[in-house]
Amino acid sequence: MNTGELIWTEDPPFPENAKRAVDNSQLRRNVRNATATIRQRRAGLVAETPDWQELRKAGAAIKDDVLHHLDAYLEEFERNAANRRATVHWARDAAEASQTITDLIKKTGETEVIKVKSMVTQEIGLVDALQNAGINAHETDLAELIVQLAHDRPSHIVVPALHRNRAEIRRIFLDHMADAPRDLTDDPHALAEAARLHLRRLFLRTKVAISGANFAIAETGGLLVAESEGNGRMCLTLPETLISVVGIEKLIPTFSDLEVFLQLLPRSATGERMNPYNSVWTGVTPGDGPQAVHIVLLDNGRTRALADATGRQALRCIRCAACLNVCPVYERTGGHAYGATYPGPIGAILTPLLVGVEHAPQLPFASSLCGACYEVCPVEIDIPTVLVKLRHDAVNAHRHRAEDAAFATAASAMSGRRRWSAALKAARLMRFVRHGAPPPLHRWTRTRDLPDPPGEPFREWWRKR
Ligand code: SF4
Repeated sequence: MNTGELIWTEDPPFPENAKRAVDNSQLRRNVRNATATIRQRRAGLVAETPDWQELRKAGAAIKDDVLHHLDAYLEEFERNAANRRATVHWARDAAEASQTITDLIKKTGETEVIKVKSMVTQEIGLVDALQNAGINAHETDLAELIVQLAHDRPSHIVVPALHRNRAEIRRIFLDHMADAPRDLTDDPHALAEAARLHLRRLFLRTKVAISGANFAIAETGGLLVAESEGNGRMCLTLPETLISVVGIEKLIPTFSDLEVFLQLLPRSATGERMNPYNSVWTGVTPGDGPQAVHIVLLDNGRTRALADATGRQALRCIRCAACLNVCPVYERTGGHAYGATYPGPIGAILTPLLVGVEHAPQLPFASSLCGACYEVCPVEIDIPTVLVKLRHDAVNAHRHRAEDAAFATAASAMSGRRRWSAALKAARLMRFVRHGAPPPLHRWTRTRDLPDPPGEPFREWWRKR
């Protein structure tokens, strides 16, 4: 299955990226200010919700039920969506999903589409795939628009341009948005108004839209997008054709399950009691909204993650990004350091689970294991436990021959009295270890102190007396 190349950029790896990021004080300041604000708002709302822990448990239980009966819920969803005149397509991987979407757009004869903010379209590299097929995809979420205009990459799941400040955004608009007013200031209202006018023209002329979905409801065949700006709703209602890409883990069994998730998601994601816009659509309604509705159900590594008994809980994720906002590693490195679509603690487990830990072996180590991510996760994903399990898998997948040999030698030395005494004598001669071992063992001692060998080991002292 082709899962690796589009979601995971591989190179350069996390440690190098992180080092560069922590040297960038402006980036650190932007990330710290933004995450602190959302963190504070979330904490206030959680404190005023007396049944918060029960809601978390309910969210986790609903998602676990879906994961345990995924095949049945997927078929139920497909049946109900088809009954409401939506066309359901299945995609095993990024390439298949992109090809399906490209073909659907080409059939309409259009070369321009508008997009609702969606992580899964980032995951499959859809905008680039469409570009290669001669189709222009315009991001309509304000932050995604900023990122797209700057030829940048998103750095946060909910706030993709969180690494940019107002002055930078003004510069991006002036340089890359042809219809931005030349006297644009960095006042937030002026920036939002410039984007609004730019997007309004796109909404009115574009005939095809692409979205993801926060939830897919098996009972009705409907999809839901939760958002703050209303730009998503414009995309979902104005065009003639709507194509939605949905990861197969986005299912929930019934419409009433939204009662749980629409309390958990906004409080955790943006620190709001509810999202300003929750749009639900179920197939085609004659004479109202898009008259051609396509849904692409995507695997792209999800069944691989499902097969991992410890890791499958990552598929409960509702992409609220609360774990990013509390993570001490993310706060210092920002999102780009992770080199993948999903940054932060959830990215550190989800990416290896989707692409195979052998393709992303550093990510499970991009954590201090402090456990803050688990405490805030609205669906109780035990990220630290999954991280530790994936570290184990990563070590097994990339066993280092030199390290294996070193441990085998140590085991042999420690298993006999004479050999151990000889080893201690040898170690006393090897004073260089104080300053770190030579390659290839230097990476081990770079972050660990090796104790000095004792001048006189206990056994020698005992023998003398
Ligand atoms: S792992 Fe939990 S906290 Fe993190 S994005 Fe997913 S649902 Fe939110």
